[in-house]
Amino acid sequence: KMQGVSGCEEKIIVLIRLRPLSEKENAANESEDWECINDTTILYRNTLREGSTFPSAYTFDKVFRGACATRQVYEEGAREIALSVVNGINSTIFAYGQTSSGKTYTMIGITEYAVADIFDYMNKHEERAFVLKLSAIEIYNEIVRDLLSTDNSPLRLRDDPERGPILENLTEETLQDWGHLEGLLSLCEAQRHVGETSLNEKSSRSHQIIRLTIESSAREFLGKGNSATLSASVNFVDLAGSERASQVSSAGVRLKEGCHINRSLLTLSTVIRKLRLSISSSAYVVSLVYSVSIVDNLHLGYLIKGRQGHINYRDSKLTRILQPCLGGNAKTAIICTLSPARSHVEQTRNTLLFACCAK
Ligand code: ADP
Ligand code: MG
Repeated sequence: KMQGVSGCEEKIIVLIRLRPLSEKENAANESEDWECINDTTILYRNTLREGSTFPSAYTFDKVFRGACATRQVYEEGAREIALSVVNGINSTIFAYGQTSSGKTYTMIGITEYAVADIFDYMNKHEERAFVLKLSAIEIYNEIVRDLLSTDNSPLRLRDDPERGPILENLTEETLQDWGHLEGLLSLCEAQRHVGETSLNEKSSRSHQIIRLTIESSAREFLGKGNSATLSASVNFVDLAGSERASQVSSAGVRLKEGCHINRSLLTLSTVIRKLRLSISSSAYVVSLVYSVSIVDNLHLGYLIKGRQGHINYRDSKLTRILQPCLGGNAKTAIICTLSPARSHVEQTRNTLLFACCAK
């Protein structure tokens, strides 16, 4: 299912999730301009009316139509990547899309299904001793805050030569059971809205990362001084609304927010694109030529310079923090969420453009 063209397992997969029209959109008599015609292709249905200056069909690893439940998105798109942590492989699952397209709805569901599966795995492998930890942060204006603490002061990010990027004083809760998870998720949700004056205002401008870290060691070696600990993390990233990557804000605070969000979303797309190109270049020339045709000539430069080029993780907090869980051996899923409504067509196209560059 997740086999790439070269027969290797894919390291980055791109999924599309189209949500149904909302009650409000239905009430406003909005038409649905997008349709999933099979499980890999999404079609713009209104090309004739607008004149066909834009491609009308887009193909991805998987597309999920509005009627699909989050469980199906999880099982077919995210489970394998999330569960690679039990084998010591880091991973990251992103939700990318404009505000109100379904990022939070999708990520919360996926996080819960993943935790349930991880608990299940831990129970079935009694030969190992496990510790499952959860941390949660918000990145807002390039400032990192702990969502599991009511202390609102910024967390300092520093680079440890051995352990990589470290957030000082970050709360890490050891997950006990299902009820504990639910409590922590609602605490995060409440903390994410601190300082917000209207619904979706701040949360649409901030990135949220929920990180699960699983540590395990064989029980027979416990306490004998020679037990190797296996440790890996999976990140569930609910990104700021993608409209922030294209929209130039007016003035003052808004402008500052706009710039920062621009920076981290744009850095993320550059990082993903370079990772994608470096994977393609070692896999298949055909897919390379294809990628190059949809991005600008700049990226041709990276290909010529070398397989990987310089990957600018350090250009934003988001990519610095996620670096150990992006690229290398790590696995990534990008779930691009879309509204089907005609009034959102510009943002939907922008999201698909990002998705095309990432695949
Ligand atoms: P975002 O986080 O991208 O701003 P939300 O996840 O908050 O968007 O979704 C906006 C609204 O649409 C919410 O009320 C949510 O419950 C609803 N919604 C989103 N995706 C779906 C879906 N696939 N099926 C049904 N309702 C959805
Ligand atoms: Mg949201």
